[in-house]
Amino acid sequence: AKASFGEAVCHFCPDMDEVARRQRRIATDLRHAVERGELHLLYQPQHALEGGTLLGYEALVRWIHPEYGLISPVDFIPMAEQSGDIFAIGEWVLNEAARAAAQWDDDLKIAVNLSPVQLQQEGLVQMITGILIDSGLPARRLELEITEGAIIADRTHALHVLRQIKALGISIALDDFGTGYSSLDTLGTFPIDKIKIDKSFLLRSAGNVQAATILRAVLALGRSLDIPVLAEGVETRAHLDLLRDEGCAEGQGYLFGRPAPLDDNGRQMAQA
Ligand code: C2E
Ligand code: CA
Ligand code: CA
Ligand code: CA
Repeated sequence: AKASFGEAVCHFCPDMDEVARRQRRIATDLRHAVERGELHLLYQPQHALEGGTLLGYEALVRWIHPEYGLISPVDFIPMAEQSGDIFAIGEWVLNEAARAAAQWDDDLKIAVNLSPVQLQQEGLVQMITGILIDSGLPARRLELEITEGAIIADRTHALHVLRQIKALGISIALDDFGTGYSSLDTLGTFPIDKIKIDKSFLLRSAGNVQAATILRAVLALGRSLDIPVLAEGVETRAHLDLLRDEGCAEGQGYLFGRPAPLDDNGRQMAQA
């Protein structure tokens, strides 16, 4: 088929081959990324908006590929979910984050993202229990961030697992709220301790009346259900002022700090 389209197409072919080759290589290498020590965690601060207290950090994974360098989780987590590598990666992330957080001040929390695929994983609760014991991290300092995608697949199973997680003393945050499969019923049915409103609403709030209105509506919803709301994507002073005016409890974003390595005491290191 290549030849019949003539020369113009052939210039394009090597690039496509290169892209495809890179994708295949990444998929293959992902299998070994954990054991080869190529994954790293960065930590992004979460703050109380009234008073500005540091509450804790969200752990965000990075992959340093030996040839391609830094690969974003946006590019390899979906692949890992497809291949099943997410089980090893997810366990590594939890373990690493718990061991790090156990060294921090006793009042700082650690938030860890849980893939919808992991929520279906057999033995998940035992795995988490083992990590808490091994790391010495008190359960009340761990927060798991789930998305509504995790609940959609099998509501009954998801509810069962989340109740077990809650019973351990771990808290649960509903991530990326307002995008995807949002259903208000989730907030009434599932044991949700915090709503994380997706960063897209705050980032569009300046020029977009609809985004600002949805942001206010989510804050009102949180208030009436008595569930604290954390706003993602706090990049500017104007974002912070808006959130304070609207009574939002917590925030996370570049204004407070980018995802970065921490020292052993849980303080952000000076950034290069
Ligand atoms: P997320 O859980 O919604 O994480 C927040 C993302 O927003 C992070 O991107 C963070 O760097 C970015 N962000 C934070 N503050 C700001 C801001 O002020 N402005 C803007 N524009 N962006 C901000 P990151 O680290 O690239 O992670 C992307 C996604 O990858 C995460 O979205 C999460 O879905 C997934 N992910 C990251 N680490 C893990 C992990 O350990 N396990 C799993 N299952 N997923 C992960
Ligand atoms: Ca998250
Ligand atoms: Ca999010
Ligand atoms: Ca997201």
